Order: sequence, then structure tokens, then C-alpha cells
Amino acid sequence: MNPKSWQIGEVKITKIVESEGLWDPTRIVPNANLDNTRDSEWAVGPFIDPETGRFRISIHTFGLEIGDEKIVVDTCGGNDKLRPGAPDFHQLQTDFLERLAAGGFPPEEVTAVVCTHLHVDHVGWNTMLDGDTWKPTFPNARYLFGEREWQHWSVEPQIYGDVAGDSVRPVIEAGRAELIPSDLRLNDLLWLEPTPGHTPGHHSVRISSDDADAIITGDLFHGAVQFDHPDWASAPDVDRAHAAETRTSFMERYSDDHTLVLATHFGGPSCGHIKRNGSGFRLDPGAHWPLAVDEVSGTSER
Ligand SMILES: [Zn+2]
Repeated sequence: MNPKSWQIGEVKITKIVESEGLWDPTRIVPNANLDNTRDSEWAVGPFIDPETGRFRISIHTFGLEIGDEKIVVDTCGGNDKLRPGAPDFHQLQTDFLERLAAGGFPPEEVTAVVCTHLHVDHVGWNTMLDGDTWKPTFPNARYLFGEREWQHWSVEPQIYGDVAGDSVRPVIEAGRAELIPSDLRLNDLLWLEPTPGHTPGHHSVRISSDDADAIITGDLFHGAVQFDHPDWASAPDVDRAHAAETRTSFMERYSDDHTLVLATHFGGPSCGHIKRNGSGFRLDPGAHWPLAVDEVSGTSER
């Protein structure tokens, strides 16, 4: 599969996939199931498999190229991580770093790493094994971790495994981390927007250049059905009520607007524009769906 790219003014955004598949919706959005997902008719095809009703799920990084800067947003599950509580991320052995390099992001050229939050599937490639110790994968990058987010996860264990211990703390100890506010402006074209609820310090990544706009959602959404039902929690939402409020205000803000929404766990086109749909909303992938033949992959069921 070729990496998929979008040009937002001067900013090139590339999706680099670690894994893709058709996931049982109940695992991710407990109110959803194999019978009701297809009620979101607008999503059937791009985001929901027509045959099975499963979610098209992707674990991917969005790489941003802005002038000389190469910024990686979220670092997937990583290799060799012990995740007894998350079989999908346990002791992975993928060629993700080769795909990242092929997509334009050799690790040594990455200038910054942004984690929308510090969950297991957003920090994994922050580090890799060097002998028996975890070392930063991106030796020349500054890693930006939300200050509020780290306050939470530095004391709260994750059910998946020792995520903080193997994928965050080693970066801090190596002196490569900066603890940042959730509304940080990185440069003229790029800033963070707080989108809390899924986790306490969760933020989205906003891109604006030459009258073109995009936003990377992080884990604000896990399933397209949440555009119809913002109150349907994602299983890992830390504060479900707050996450639902944030989803609603986000859709109000970006609906019927030219901002391209890039969803961090949506497979298929992984993007669209938010439109009003009766009393709810939908995500319209427009010309980004159907995919070109060489972009299609990931039909295994999980
Ligand atoms: Zn996630």
C-alpha cells in the first residue's frame, strides 16, 4: 500500500500505517454492535465494512512536513512492548520504521514528536529496545508531551502494560521531552487544541496554511457511529461525559466548514468534512473515497 498524503497549503501530511483491520465495534464503542453500525448509512463503505458491519480501524501516524521540519503525530504501538492487557499491541514485530522512512520520515530526520495523548497506541514507537533498555527512537527530535496528560499517567497505571515506564519515562530521562500546555502553538501553521475527556490532557493537532485547514483528531472518535451518537463512549474514554461533550462541541465547531478532519483510528479514507445530518452529523470523505486500488489493504478481522 502506498502511503496516503494530503497537501494543506505548505504542509504535507502523510499517513503511515502500523496495522489495519476490521474490528468488532463492540470492543471499541460498547454501544455499537454488528447489527446497528450499518444504521449510520453514510459511513457504510468508507468507515464501516458493508459485509460484516465491522469498523475499518487503522493504527497510524500522521507525519507532517513543514519546510525543514518533520513532525510525527502519534507513534502507534511499537515493537517488543509487553502488553499483557492489550493483545493487539503485545510484542509486536512490524516493519513500521521502514514504512515511516519510505514515507519521508527516517527516524534521525524527525525534528519533533507530538503525542495527542499517552495511551498505549500513541506512544509505542517513542522508544525502541537497545540491548535491554528503551532508547528514544527519534534521536534528534524533541518530544512534546501534554503536561496535564503526564500528571495523570505518571501516577495512574494503564491496564495494557507499563506504557509510561517503557515509552514515556525513558524519553524524559534521556532529556528529550518537553511537557507542554494543550494549546501550544508550534509555529505559524501548526498548533494544538485541547480536546479533553478521552484522557485528561488529550489534544488535537490543528494545521492552517494558505487558507487550507485540517485537524488531526487523535482519539476524539474511534468509530464513525459517534458522529451520529456523540454520547456513545469509546471503551478507553477516561471521562465519558466529558468526552461526549467534547465530541459534540468539536462537530458543532467544524461542521459545514472547509477544515479537513483527519481521524487517527479511521481506516479507509481516514478523513472527511463534517456535515450536518438531520439532528446529528456525518463525516463526508468526498473525493477521498473510494480509494485507489493501490491504497487498499487491511481486511483481517479482529
Ligand atoms: Zn488510540
